Amino acid sequence: MIVLVCCLTVDNQKYPAVLATVKNRGYNSRAMSISNYANPFVLGLTAYEPGKPVEETARELGLDPADIVKLASNENSLGPSEKAVEAIRRASAGVHVYPDGAAFELRSALAKRHGVDMRETIVGTGSSEIIELVAHAFLNPRAEVIAAKHAFSMYPIVTQLFGARYTEVPNKADWSHDLQAMLAAISPRTRVIFITNPTNPIGTAVTQREVDDFMERVPDHVLVCFDEAYREFAGEQIDTVKFVRQGRNAAVLRTFSKVYGLAGVRVGYGLAKEEICTALHKCREPFNLNSLAQTAALAALEDEEHVRRTVAMTREGMRTYEAAFREMGLEWIPSQANFVLVKVGAGRKVFQAMLDRGVIVRAQDGYGLPEYIRITVGTAEQNARCVQVLREVLGK
Ligand SMILES: *Cc1c(COP(=O)(O)O)cnc(C)c1O
Repeated sequence: MIVLVCCLTVDNQKYPAVLATVKNRGYNSRAMSISNYANPFVLGLTAYEPGKPVEETARELGLDPADIVKLASNENSLGPSEKAVEAIRRASAGVHVYPDGAAFELRSALAKRHGVDMRETIVGTGSSEIIELVAHAFLNPRAEVIAAKHAFSMYPIVTQLFGARYTEVPNKADWSHDLQAMLAAISPRTRVIFITNPTNPIGTAVTQREVDDFMERVPDHVLVCFDEAYREFAGEQIDTVKFVRQGRNAAVLRTFSKVYGLAGVRVGYGLAKEEICTALHKCREPFNLNSLAQTAALAALEDEEHVRRTVAMTREGMRTYEAAFREMGLEWIPSQANFVLVKVGAGRKVFQAMLDRGVIVRAQDGYGLPEYIRITVGTAEQNARCVQVLREVLGK
């Protein structure tokens, strides 16, 4: 039997006495744990494990934060666009006022850039928020989500949050998405399919032909989400916005956290036909994107030189890693993004040993890849330090 103690009728001093009375009568106060009333989907969740922050690592090792190299979260080691920083500085004087809840200027700029209507855009606190909004709008315990095996961990998290079924489709032998197998996995329950291109944490990409073929055959009861967080780094920049313009059930998700270097202000966006965007807008907070993020994103969008320099630095850095892996006799998965998976044996141990030497990378056991670590490509200096520490740790 459950006994609820109503605190409203008992003042604070009497509360312990009331609990004691309840216990004396043989009721266990632990049975009243508030968790018993929490959403069961939430209690079963494993929380997202982010890359280890520099400050935390510095504290633990007793080092200066400046001596730590973080190559764990696919951030832009060049830093943010100067133009975005300047825009934030200017906008900071106005933070006593609520932001524009409709994010008119940013959404207009995005619509113009992508040749869609403003009503076909939505902005959010990182594209993670857009992923969550998709789940809010489309998932429930009767729904199913399909994604590739070893996919971005936000997909299973939001799926479970809404009690939906999560189906993983193994990758092809070359580690890329198996779009044919994903089509074959579709059931009447399938509501959302995530296609991450290039994919994280693997780094492989799909071709325009594969995607066109997929879209020709995907049924209409499925929303296809193209998560393009690493798009700018890829060799072939495929067109998925055309599916939005064609009125297909597709959403294109992009972020300012990676190539644009704005991970700290949290801003991302989605493009989808009006019907879909309207549903997503209903699920968001009225002021979901703060004013500094709006203005920073607007400025970053215009700074094409910063994007170009970032991509050039990343390609150069990728060659450095590939050469080093080859020399050390390590296997790696060729990547189209700003990170690379390399096979080191006991991934978690290597991650920890590198961490002890002040270099933060990412263990992959949580992604079903225990033999790998994921390294974000950074500046030439950071990459050199990372390679040196990896050599030390592996004795190569
Ligand atoms: C980083 C990332 C995102 C977006 O991150 P936000 O910072 O929330 O914009 C989305 N998808 C994938 C696959 C990512 O790696």
